[in-house]
Amino acid sequence: MIRLQNIEKVYRTDTVETLAVNGISLDIAQGEFLSIMGPSGCGKSTLLNIMGLLDEPSKGSVRIDNQDISHFSDRKLASFRNQKLGFIFQSYHLINDLQVVDNVELPLLYRNSTAKERRRLAEAALEKVGLSNRLKHFPTQLSGGQRQRVAIARAIVGSPQIILADEPTGNLDSVMGNEIMDILINLNQREGTTIVMVTHDENMAHKTHRLVRLFDGSQVQ
Ligand code: ADP
Ligand code: ADP
Repeated sequence: MIRLQNIEKVYRTDTVETLAVNGISLDIAQGEFLSIMGPSGCGKSTLLNIMGLLDEPSKGSVRIDNQDISHFSDRKLASFRNQKLGFIFQSYHLINDLQVVDNVELPLLYRNSTAKERRRLAEAALEKVGLSNRLKHFPTQLSGGQRQRVAIARAIVGSPQIILADEPTGNLDSVMGNEIMDILINLNQREGTTIVMVTHDENMAHKTHRLVRLFDGSQVQ
């Protein structure tokens, strides 16, 4: 589902050059739940952003769902990303002055769905994460675990084949973290969604199918 070949990423500024990812090749199968671990600064987020087509590699190729995206126009890339991929972040990235249900509808605004259809899909996604009773709340009225569940609903509302999660349990205590992990495991098992998750938590990583360890931009396991 995701094929990375010889990916390198160099960040250049006037004064410094950082080799953030140093020759990584990775094949992630459809329906796989993969975790990525490694010390701070080893290139995990950079790699995830490259998989998510948010960042371009300096070298190497990225295939998503067997499509070579290197020749896509920006517009095509944006719509491909919106259709195929859902994103979850450590700090939720919700819009605080939009109600929960409107946050969840956001990814659908780029599609040709009616307001009624958007509402139906958002409510269904919120039901999957157990938040049907919080549609009209604002994010600031929710606990951290609830906010992350809203973020998951937003990530899955368009039925993407792939979810990319950057430390989704990083800001949560272990009880809420486990709840979030259970939701992701369920999503993977029931819907066959391919999930790639960056984590610092060995316990979470061991619940996934495969663990990739990075060190200094290279894969060490
Ligand atoms: P991790 O997610 O494992 O903590 P990152 O992928 O965020 O690591 O960063 C990898 C390396 O690339 C780090 O050394 C970091 O300082 C550098 N880096 C990340 N983003 C940028 C950027 N936008 N500009 C310059 N250097 C960056
Ligand atoms: P937790 O113990 O999981 O962190 P909280 O104590 O923050 O949860 O919240 C308990 C419940 O009260 C949650 O279901 C949340 O939706 C609701 N809640 C929390 N803060 C507010 C608020 N400011 N306005 C409305 N509801 C709130």
